[in-house]
Parts: sequence; structure tokens; C-alpha cells
Amino acid sequence: MERSTIVRVHEGLHARPATRFVKLAKSFESDVEVVKDGKAVSAKSSVKLMLLSVKEHQEVTVRANGADAAEAVEALIGYLENPRAGLEEDSGSEAIRAPTAEVFPASPPPLADEAPKGRMRGIAASEGAAIGKAFAHFPKEIKPEPRKLAAGETGAETTRLHVAVAQVRDRMAKALAEATLAESDRAIVAALMDIAGDEALIESAQGWIAQGMDAVSAVIGATDAAAAEFSAVEDSYLRARSDDIHAVGRQLALALLGEEDADLSAAPPGAILVADDIGAWDLARAPLKRIGGVICGKGGATSHIAIIARSHGIPAVLGLGEQVFDLASATDIAIDGAGGWVAADPDEATRAEIARLSQEASKEAAALAAFKDTVPTRADGTVIEVAANLGSLEEIDAAKEAGAMGVGLFRTELLFMRHTHLPSEDLQAETYATLAKAFAPYPVIIRTLDIGGDKPVAGIEFPEEDNPFLGWRGIRMCLDRPDIFKTQLRALLRAAVNGNIKVMLPMVAEIGEVERTKVLIEECAAELAAAKTAFARFELGVMIETPAAVLIAPVLARHVAFFSIGTNDLTQYIMAADRLHPALARLNDVTNPAVMAAIEMTARAAVQAGIMVGMCGEAAGRPDLAPRFVRMGLTELSMSPSSIRRAKKAIAEAVVS
Ligand code: PEP
Ligand code: MG
Repeated sequence: MERSTIVRVHEGLHARPATRFVKLAKSFESDVEVVKDGKAVSAKSSVKLMLLSVKEHQEVTVRANGADAAEAVEALIGYLENPRAGLEEDSGSEAIRAPTAEVFPASPPPLADEAPKGRMRGIAASEGAAIGKAFAHFPKEIKPEPRKLAAGETGAETTRLHVAVAQVRDRMAKALAEATLAESDRAIVAALMDIAGDEALIESAQGWIAQGMDAVSAVIGATDAAAAEFSAVEDSYLRARSDDIHAVGRQLALALLGEEDADLSAAPPGAILVADDIGAWDLARAPLKRIGGVICGKGGATSHIAIIARSHGIPAVLGLGEQVFDLASATDIAIDGAGGWVAADPDEATRAEIARLSQEASKEAAALAAFKDTVPTRADGTVIEVAANLGSLEEIDAAKEAGAMGVGLFRTELLFMRHTHLPSEDLQAETYATLAKAFAPYPVIIRTLDIGGDKPVAGIEFPEEDNPFLGWRGIRMCLDRPDIFKTQLRALLRAAVNGNIKVMLPMVAEIGEVERTKVLIEECAAELAAAKTAFARFELGVMIETPAAVLIAPVLARHVAFFSIGTNDLTQYIMAADRLHPALARLNDVTNPAVMAAIEMTARAAVQAGIMVGMCGEAAGRPDLAPRFVRMGLTELSMSPSSIRRAKKAIAEAVVS
């Protein structure tokens, strides 16, 4: 029994739709296969199904053999033709997870200057001094010595495999049942659980055992082979799935060995997390309130780990290189995030120094408390807005507590990366509205999606790029994908009924990009009006982060309501120096005269045109530079919440005219 059809599933058979399709297939007894371009795979294996890479508008055949073959074919074809039918009753929790992005893969070597005896020097990534229990997170590589099974042993070894699968899935099911599990984590665990029970994967491991291989080696072999298939496909989202399969292979092997990985949530209060590398999104999901410091072999000052640590006020020293492995066996660790050094099992002198630094920090924090509600003004009475850079709604409270006068940059990409599918218009509208309400009447500037080829997102296929920073990212990608862009613009128009939302475009290099965006905004407004959905217009601005935008700033200023200078990217593009390249840190300096000239040119163009100019790059939070930027004409500076009070103080105390 078989039938062919044209696939109407918008995202193709990836991620959540693949999981739903497999679940449906498994509800039938018959053997079911999906055939595309002559290649047939089991419809009951999401791993195999995803590898078939079925896209919307492609033709596939569903083939079934068994007692309920006709019903199976009808139901599965029905799903492919109308995937939204019956969606409401599906909890949707079983989905392939959004990728854990290795946002900045560079691994800076330790800095050359000598550290005092007993200390290691790295990159000062987030200030704060602390001593805490070391919490080493170095998942050990499992490299089993393959063992040849004796004849008659294969049955028992297969049983061991099944017990391990059940154990791992059981542990994951328990985690899913935890009420405290965040929605984003839920999707990840559900996806891993799905892979752990994947019949093609288990059959493959069983095959290795049948040939006389021990279960641990068989599991590693089977998952390595499946992961390699994923690594070889063109689709960047699918390629990133190979990590999920490795993760499952690891869990199964550990279960077989009777071992467990250290769980970040087991870190004791005040623990100093020591790792060679940790994904920014893994860190964002860790119990940050309990973490006293972060030390990594990899990473740099503008890596997302650093940005997350700063926004949570956690001291961080990154880029320690190989030295970090020497910290693995320490009991206590001292960290000075501002000085960029760490020490294992600190001696009395080091303990005294950390105590002095923390005392000074507490004294400074107490002095800065007075500036929480300060509203810095220029001599002419113009208010300088000191706002927060945020990436998620969870950061709202800390930003308000710090004294944020609104949000100068909301990075919407986290919302896209956290989910297993593109966030819906409703979810986006709700998120943006929550943010607007939290900071009203202060403005909230939401940046449209700024994502590049180095950060895969479920539902967006990125080409392989030699230079992702110079590639298909930000506004370029959005204008090429109006389906994604218009969903976000409609959500922004809807949230703008709150009155305090502004929108800015990243990576702008041409006036045409602004003009084309305005056409799309008008289309969205007309669609919302036709649907009788409430919406309001918002002010549209651009980020100034390309040299082209600086050079055309006087013209650009006639097309937009405001500028926000993105110094992180502007510096790297002006200096032609990758912002993450460890050897180019010296060139990536905002105070370089060339970069300062670009900032000044931008400010002058905005002031002359009478539009607002602000800054949301990391430089905005530097107390030594903030008064200078204000003197240039900037009236808004947006930064990590932890920098807000100090910046307010610096501006308020400077003689600014
Ligand atoms: C910038 O480039 O300065 C900026 C704020 O954007 P991001 O750091 O997100 O690229
Ligand atoms: Mg940028």
C-alpha cells in the first residue's frame, strides 16, 4: 500500500514536524517507509527521517506493509498535506532542540604577560572577585577498549543495551516531569529522549553487538556513524543535530558503564565553574544565581559567555588555554574578573587580596547605590538615557534593579535560537509587549533578527560561508526571507500599541535596505488592518556598525528616526580585524582614532539632521568614555545592566555641556 503527495509542512520534516510524524507512524503496527528521490527510510525513525531532508513542496511517497497499512498511509499523507490539523491536542514538547550554538569558536591562547607565582592569567571578561569551591566541568571522553564478545554472550549484551536505553529514557522522562524545567530545556530533553529511543539507532547498535562487539563500543560506534551522516549534510541546522546524537551516545555509554556526568545544576552555592569550553546557551540555562565565577580555557571578552556573565554580575576569566586543565583538581579557586587572573587553592596572601578586592567592590557598590535613580542630564537639560542591553525576558528584573532607563538593545536572536522552530508571530508579539510594559514609559528598542551563518537556527537554512561576519546576516538575511522578517515586523507592530517600542535594523550598509524594510512594514500594517488586528506604528532606526553606514550617515539620517552605534561590530569592520581573533585584540580597540572618528562622524550627522543618536556596543558602558560620547552628541547609552550605575555616575559627575 503506498501513496505519493506534495509536502505542505512549512519547515519540512525537520525538528518538531519530524517528531510528530514519527509519533504518528509509531501508532500503527505496519512497517512504514517514506521514499524521496528513490531513497526509502523507516517512518518510525526520526534520525533517518531527518537525514532524508524532506522539504516543503517536495514529492514523497509513504509506503506501508501490514495489518493497518491503509490507515497508516492515509494518516501520514494527511499529516504531510495538512500538518496543522489536530495540532492543538499535541503538547509539542517532543521536539528536536534548538542548536546549542558555539557562537564564538575562537580559542584564545593565554596572554603573554607573566602572571605572579601561583596565578594564571587569562582574559578579564566580567568583573568581580571571589573565592569558591571549584566545580570542574570536563566531561571525559569515553574511549572504550573494544572487547570481542565470547560466543553466547551477545544475548546478554543486547539485554544490557536495552536496559541502558530504558534507564536513560527514564531519567529523561523524570526530568521532563519536573515542573521547574524551563520550556527551552524541556524541548531539548524531549528531543534527546526521542533520539535515545530511536529504533534505527538501536538496531544499528544491536547489529554491532551481533557481530561480537561489546555494548559500550557498539553504542559509541552506532551514534558516531549516525552523527557523521548528519555532519555531512548541507543544511546547517541538521548538521548541528550531530551534537545531539553524540550527547545521547555518551549518556547511553555512561549508563552501560554505571557512571554519570557532573550536572551543572549540582554546583554548590558560590561554586566557581571551571570548563574548557561551555556553550553560551548551556551557561544561560545553568543555575546562574548559584554560580560564583566562570573560568574557561576558551572564549574572549566579547564572546557571548562574557556577555551573559556580565549581565548576571558573575566574575569571569576566559581564554586560559591549556592552563585550565591544571585547575581541574583544585578544591578552592580564587578569581579576579577585572584583573583577569585566577589561582588554584589560594594561599593566605591571595585570599587576603581577594578579600580586599571584594571589600572594595562592596564599598563601590554601596556608593553606586545612590545612582540607581539618577537621571543624568547635559548642561542644557537634555536627559541622557542610560539603558540596558538585554537578550531575554529573564533579565528584566536585574536591569530594572540596576536603574535601567529602558532598553537600548533587545537582541531578538536568543528568542529564535532557543526554540526548536521559528517563534510564531503571537509568541514574538507577546514577548515584545512584555518587555515594553516592564519598562514603560521608557523606550524599548528592539533589534530585528541579527543572525549569521555561524549561528544555526531551526527553520532557516544558512549557506556555508568563509567569512560569516561579512556574510549573509542581519538585515541582508531578513530582506531575503520576507516570510521570517514579516512575521517579526507584524509582531512588532502589534506590540507597538504599548506606545514605547522602537525598532532598529542591524548591519545596514545601504539606504535601499531601509527603504525595502519600510515597504514590508507597510505591507504588514495593511495585513493587520485587513485582519482587524490592533497595531501601532513605531519609530524605525538603524544600527551604525558598518563603515558604509558611517559614510552615508548624513543621507541615512533623513530616512530614519534614530541611530544606535554598535561599536562591537563597527570596531572590527573599521579596523578590518575579526572581533574574536585572539591575536588581534590590540586592533579591536574602540579608542583607536579611526574608530573614534567614525563615532564622531556618525554623531555629527545625527545632530545635524536632528535625530537621536545612541550607542549599544560594549563601549557604551565604559565610564571613562561615556562622558566623551555624550559630548559628541549621544543622548542614549545602552549597556550590560551591571555597568549602568557606574555609567550614570560618570556622566552625572562629568562636566558635560
Ligand atoms: C554591536 O555590534 O556593537 C552590537 C551591539 O551588536 P552585537 O554585539 O549583538 O553584534
Ligand atoms: Mg553587531
